[in-house]
Amino acid sequence: MAFLELRSLVKNFDGLRATDNFTLDIAEGSLNALVGPNGCGKSTLFNLITGVLTPDSGEIRFKGQNITRWPPHKIARLGIGRKFQVPAIFEELTVRENLIVAAKNKSQQEIIAEILAQINLTKDPDMLAGELAHGQKQWLEIGMLLAQAPSLILLDEPTAGMTGAETRATADLITRINRERGMTVLVIEHDMGFIEHLACPLHVMSKGQILKSGNFTEIRNDDEVKALYFGQ
Ligand code: ADP
Ligand code: MG
Repeated sequence: MAFLELRSLVKNFDGLRATDNFTLDIAEGSLNALVGPNGCGKSTLFNLITGVLTPDSGEIRFKGQNITRWPPHKIARLGIGRKFQVPAIFEELTVRENLIVAAKNKSQQEIIAEILAQINLTKDPDMLAGELAHGQKQWLEIGMLLAQAPSLILLDEPTAGMTGAETRATADLITRINRERGMTVLVIEHDMGFIEHLACPLHVMSKGQILKSGNFTEIRNDDEVKALYFGQ
């Protein structure tokens, strides 16, 4: 039994098939990346996993439970946390206050210093979140996710709008979260620089399905992937 099992997920929107018999197993404690061109169904897949959308057919199992058709709040409570592209932070609160608000309970509040270190914001805990740089806002939202102590983290394009340096720092940050906090992470991304830096198994999506899985070098040198993704 895998930690997260996605089985033959189909989701249609008015005749458009966004996910097409999508199947993938995610092991506990692993870090995986889902890549693919715009419109191939990546965000739809996260919407299905988090209960924002319900599949037309197929099954989602998390920690051995069939969570297909569960409401979002119940799925979140079971331990699936998600980060959207636009950071949902409280701009008028400080960095530390944002983490306190997000903390699941008292014991999570006690590890806020640890979270601040993990998201590279140790120097600025009393700064207003609204004054952070764009990349730091993204990290703060990742920190808020950590404070909720999920066991599976879904990140949808976490480096959107970041500089090259911020992108590399984000890859390091995600790798550390996976290794040091033991959290299972599934990240959607199309920035190839970021993906190379992540050094984790990749799953290339095309038209709602997985076209190929492998490491960065295997994916980079695959002719089908090149044709699809690099436009060659
Ligand atoms: P990606 O995240 O890979 O860019 P999406 O999952 O957002 O792709 O979208 C996959 C396809 O489904 C696209 O053609 C998109 O326009 C369509 N789509 C996504 N969400 C909806 C929705 N709520 N209603 C109608 N069409 C949608
Ligand atoms: Mg998307």
